[in-house]
Amino acid sequence: MKKRVIILGGGVGGLSAGWMLARTGNYEVTIIESAPVTGGACGTFEYRKFLLDYGPHKSYSILPGILDELKNLMGDEFLKHEKRNSIFMFNSFLKYPIRMTDLALKMGAKNLVQCGLSATAILNRGAKTGDGKESYEEYIVDRFGRKLYRLVFEPLADKIWGDPSTLSADIASARIPGKSFMDVAMRAIGLKKDSELTDAKYFYYPRRGFGRILKRMEEEIIKFGGTILTSTKPAKIHHKESLITQLQVENNSNLDTLPCDLLISSIPLDVLVALLGSAKEPCWKDALHIVKKLQYRSAVLVYVFLRQEMVTDHHWIFFPERDVIFSRIFEQKQMSKEMCPKDKTVICCDFTDYENGNLWNHSDRELVDKCVSDLERTGIIRKSWVEGSFIKRFPRFYPRYDLSYKRTLTTLYSLLKRVENLLLTGRIGLYNYNNSDHCVDMGRFIADNLECGKKPDQIWTELEQRVAEYKIVD
Ligand SMILES: Cc1cc2nc3c(=O)[nH]c(=O)nc-3n(C[C@H](O)[C@H](O)[C@H](O)COP(=O)(O)OP(=O)(O)OC[C@H]3O[C@@H](n4cnc5c(N)ncnc54)[C@H](O)[C@@H]3O)c2cc1C
Repeated sequence: MKKRVIILGGGVGGLSAGWMLARTGNYEVTIIESAPVTGGACGTFEYRKFLLDYGPHKSYSILPGILDELKNLMGDEFLKHEKRNSIFMFNSFLKYPIRMTDLALKMGAKNLVQCGLSATAILNRGAKTGDGKESYEEYIVDRFGRKLYRLVFEPLADKIWGDPSTLSADIASARIPGKSFMDVAMRAIGLKKDSELTDAKYFYYPRRGFGRILKRMEEEIIKFGGTILTSTKPAKIHHKESLITQLQVENNSNLDTLPCDLLISSIPLDVLVALLGSAKEPCWKDALHIVKKLQYRSAVLVYVFLRQEMVTDHHWIFFPERDVIFSRIFEQKQMSKEMCPKDKTVICCDFTDYENGNLWNHSDRELVDKCVSDLERTGIIRKSWVEGSFIKRFPRFYPRYDLSYKRTLTTLYSLLKRVENLLLTGRIGLYNYNNSDHCVDMGRFIADNLECGKKPDQIWTELEQRVAEYKIVD
């Protein structure tokens, strides 16, 4: 008899686990998604004859076998793009990831000398390796010098994550291509080559939007006998001793009960903990308290519609400067021309804040006006081209690793692991800062190991070690 697996959340985390398990033929998979459609942050939606993604999404992976899985899934829907990214600094668009040579030419003599001096001090004493407890700020200053940190790294990190001195260095080690000033400098003068581990030269993108990947996963789950329940919320997880037995779900005020042999969650951890138990039970009281310590950044996406055929020449552009509201923009048409009307285009500006932070609390009108004015000031658009706008706000879009997040997670996981048939996956579900390919890898890892007969708690522990090594390839 097939094992009944219920998966909470129909983003790429949940769907890839469902796809990998359903295709083994040994599991009856049911996906529970609270939104009317699956896809989560990787979805594509339709608006005024435009197909739009939630920020720039590329498909690429250095994880063994994952890109092949995605290529096989997408077939000829995948377009291959040679990547063109840039960063707006010193009033110029520089190639991204930044080349030291480009930076040196733009930063001016005084900055250059100061960067050189602080880097020389590092080279003389040798770069630190880091003990896993340092902050983002310490990690960068130790490797690149304070001047370069202040000029290049701090402004963008501050905009995206908030105060980098309270941010874990794990974000830096997952994201920053060069390991040290020496490494970056050697690449700049050609003594060391860029590798695909630091900078992907190309990426894939489905011609009708990133969300097509998720639709294909959904089709595969259904083909292998699985079920996708949208507009459906988990209401209560029933467990006997340490085993989950049933999930109560709610759809349009109707309650239903689904039997469950294994539960995989890709929904926010605080929601999961509240579904598992109440504050009256000592174990869950602790878990409910601890889970509140996990921090998140919220995202705002401002789409600006333009009466122009196309306005940029890049797939996405970073904006570290503090007086520009957005930290990144992308033009959907650069990903696929099929997604927008021929004579029109749309720019998506993204920025982050804490939920109810200063920016988050601005009105939609204020945010659109500021985006339009900054797009004009940086030379990307003319205000007269604008013919509409649209805003999406996402609370809890990114896990924010503070300095004690590892301890918090370890304590929380040890409480959750008492439930023997529970597993976590995905960016939000496992509280791991990652890309969609990593979510696919997690799904495949879970399926492969269940097939080998491993128990969920062992898989969970091994998965924790695996995700700690993930790198975001820009
Ligand atoms: C701006 C931006 C750019 C990115 N660029 C890239 C990129 O270029 N390449 C790349 O590979 N990745 C990229 N990513 C990362 C990628 O989007 C994430 O890794 C991925 O979306 C995480 O998927 P997930 O399933 O973990 O979470 P989500 O996508 O958040 O999915 C969670 C799902 O759970 C559902 N849910 C929530 N609560 C409940 C509940 N109570 N009950 C039932 N369902 C619930 C949600 O509706 C959602 O569908 C980017 C992310 C952002 C924000």
